[in-house]
Amino acid sequence: MNARKVLILGGTAEARSLAVLLHDAGVDAVSSLAGRVKNPALPVGQVRVGGFGGVDGLVAWLRQHGCAAIIDATHPFARVISANAAQAAACAGIPLLTLRRAPWETQPGDNWIDVADLTEAAHAVTEMAAARDGLRVFLTTGRQDVDAFRAVDDAWFLIRLVDPPEREGPRRSTIIRSRGPYTLDGELALLREHRIDVVVTKNSGGNLVRAKLDAARTLSLPVIMVRRPAAAATGPQVLTAAEAAQWVEGLAP
Ligand code: NAP
Repeated sequence: MNARKVLILGGTAEARSLAVLLHDAGVDAVSSLAGRVKNPALPVGQVRVGGFGGVDGLVAWLRQHGCAAIIDATHPFARVISANAAQAAACAGIPLLTLRRAPWETQPGDNWIDVADLTEAAHAVTEMAAARDGLRVFLTTGRQDVDAFRAVDDAWFLIRLVDPPEREGPRRSTIIRSRGPYTLDGELALLREHRIDVVVTKNSGGNLVRAKLDAARTLSLPVIMVRRPAAAATGPQVLTAAEAAQWVEGLAP
């Protein structure tokens, strides 16, 4: 058993950056992916794929692999795995660090409509559609969330996804499949081509997909921005992979 083995709960660019840093530092780290994306960008080093089977499964996995720490570097909206990680770390008696990139902040010229969740986002679209004729929405909340907009009939949606949706989305929609990063020029062209009136997104943060916000500002379009859920863990939290690597360095040998 290696006392310094760490588990990185991943699925984000930050988790992949951390895997590189820990690999280069000679740390015995395993990256874990949920296995939802068909061709995921694979982290450097050891990788495992698939759910653990809830908190109990995760605790058993941590014990079986002699893990000394967990770094929850999952997406800010991946609530279940983060809550499971907090419980499992407490149960296994090992430290947990949360690595979360900073949320996007408004800049001068932005017109964001702040909403608490996807239900509120769908409500905001419905209200906007009622106030005008033929609302055209650019929806980038991810394939697990398209069903939140299923009942919105009086708007048309351009839905951008990496993989096909898991659930039924809005009836009046077109799906385009692509994976970031995106550029300002590309996003401007897309918004113009589809005559988009409003962008709907979750406040994921990070640079890979932020160009849509810059494009919306450039075109004076409103953005319905879904606020992040509250953090599941109360322990230490950092914003960058470099800080997380430092935290690992400081763990007891
Ligand atoms: P979730 O709702 O928080 O988790 C659902 C279940 O998926 C968990 O209970 C767990 O299964 C499994 N799981 C999730 N992340 C895992 C991981 N890194 N390794 C092993 N099992 C994992 O998660 P989600 O929102 O569906 O997100 C799934 C993955 O996609 C996450 O790793 C996240 O970082 C990434 N992602 C999510 C979003 C988003 O908007 N939610 C966006 C981009 C990327 P068991 O209970 O069986 O362990």
